[in-house]
Amino acid sequence: MLKYDRTYNFSAGPATMPESVLEEIRDEMMNYQGSGMCVMEMSHRSKVFQKIADEAEQDLRELMGIPDNYKVLFIQGGATLQFAMIPMNLMRNGVADYVVTGSWSKKAFKEAQKYGDVKCVASSEDKNFSYIPDCSDLPIRENADYVYICENETIHGTTYQKLPNTKGHILVSDQSSMFLSKPCNVSDYGMIYAGVQKNVGPAGMVVAIIREDLIREDLDPKTPVYMSYKTHADNGSMYNTPNCWAIYCCGKVFKYLKKIGGLAEMEKMNIAKAKVMYDFLDNSKMFKGTVEKEVRSLMNIPFVTESAELDAEVIAYTKAAGFENLKGHKSVGGLRASTYNAMPKEGVEALVECLKKFEAEHK
Ligand SMILES: *Cc1c(COP(=O)(O)O)cnc(C)c1O
Repeated sequence: MLKYDRTYNFSAGPATMPESVLEEIRDEMMNYQGSGMCVMEMSHRSKVFQKIADEAEQDLRELMGIPDNYKVLFIQGGATLQFAMIPMNLMRNGVADYVVTGSWSKKAFKEAQKYGDVKCVASSEDKNFSYIPDCSDLPIRENADYVYICENETIHGTTYQKLPNTKGHILVSDQSSMFLSKPCNVSDYGMIYAGVQKNVGPAGMVVAIIREDLIREDLDPKTPVYMSYKTHADNGSMYNTPNCWAIYCCGKVFKYLKKIGGLAEMEKMNIAKAKVMYDFLDNSKMFKGTVEKEVRSLMNIPFVTESAELDAEVIAYTKAAGFENLKGHKSVGGLRASTYNAMPKEGVEALVECLKKFEAEHK
């Protein structure tokens, strides 16, 4: 049994957090470092909270090696709000090109169409998004303001091995379900953003990393003040009350990642963990992965049996054995194990043992 009777939680999000971080948060719950109050109760204008926010930004900058000409913004509204904020802020010509590789990039593509001339330049929908199209020579338009990708499709379990050739255009990437899972060369992008509830912290916040020259003030005058990146950039992400709690928890996770050796170390652990699962799937007669091998995600691993009935049996079996949230998304079916940063390798090993046992019992 795990500490505190916890289960191995394979949820795609909100998702498992590092246990040591939860323990620190618990220990600081009633009185944060002598302030006499919980972070939940604190003014966002207080010195104590300002220090929490400043350290969170600084630690993230160090972890990712974010260049000085990029702003780090903490914005509410989840990744979904970014689907609209991106075209509202980054379109100058009113033109953008999208690569559609799954449910999340498709949603972003549809939302952006409300704001301008938006084209899908490559898609993997013909095979239910089980692969990443060749992006070495996309028909990107001359006047495209940006090229958009979802770098890790949470539902379909695909990930880019190589970034698209944007032909000199700005790349915008939704990294929600892979944020901080491996090193990232920020200057390859105009903007990176991530809803933090997948791989970092509690729900309700996005981290947006955006090159300064892309932040502008000449937006459509009807743009809500909250939806201008400039509002957030000019006010240190505190134009209004930010999600203080999420900033605090994410800050803890950033410190935890620094302590374990940074993103290169995290990537090694993630590769080792995913290998346990993929080796099992590649050798199983009952279970198989749903994604082309070369583009399999380290973070979200969908798999199926031969039938929906058997899938349902497996899900019930794993649940009874103490593994939670393995039901796949309805658009893929089957099962999905999300193996984010905070999932220990032992959790994946234990799951594989459980699946092997099921397979042996159902020959
Ligand atoms: C979960 C997810 C979203 C949506 O996030 P919300 O915070 O719920 O709006 C967007 N993109 C990706 C890749 C996701 O995994």
